[in-house]
Amino acid sequence: MNFRRVLPALALTGLMAAAPIAAMAQARAHVHGQLKLDIAIDGPTVVIEMESPLDNFVGYEHAPKSESEKKMADDAVAQLRAADQLFKIDPAANCKLGPVALRSAALGLGKTETGAGEGHADLDGTFAFNCTKATEAKFIELGLFGAFKGLRQVDAQIVSPDGQFKRTLKRPATRLAWGGSK
Ligand SMILES: [Zn+2]
Repeated sequence: MNFRRVLPALALTGLMAAAPIAAMAQARAHVHGQLKLDIAIDGPTVVIEMESPLDNFVGYEHAPKSESEKKMADDAVAQLRAADQLFKIDPAANCKLGPVALRSAALGLGKTETGAGEGHADLDGTFAFNCTKATEAKFIELGLFGAFKGLRQVDAQIVSPDGQFKRTLKRPATRLAWGGSK
């Protein structure tokens, strides 16, 4: 069973795609196989906020117990910390990976908010990139589907000087592109 938490107002409309981005940003869903990215292009930085069920990265949602579970967690964390491999930003923006912050209560990472719900756990992250021409960025090549087999869909919102965009990427697509058409 999928476990969902959405704002009641959004659930009532049943048309999340039509909801304004400001409202979308407050919606928090926990659906296995899906993760959410909020991408902000601002001044010299590109900041990616990721919200995801822990299951997407390791296939379970509890504190790791066995050696194999611990190894899966270590591997996933290492891959997420090497975020310039998962998020290859348009070379025109000339970005370098800056601070990465990961949060997961189940894995004992960072400061976490309340849990995702009974029997569920999240792994969220903030990935900051420092760029010389951040506003030139028009796409990001995502390595997420290659790295994490359980992931099927990425829902992204991009806020840039060109405007706000909402994109959904499904396996095996890798290019998250915006700009040009709104
Ligand atoms: Zn879950």
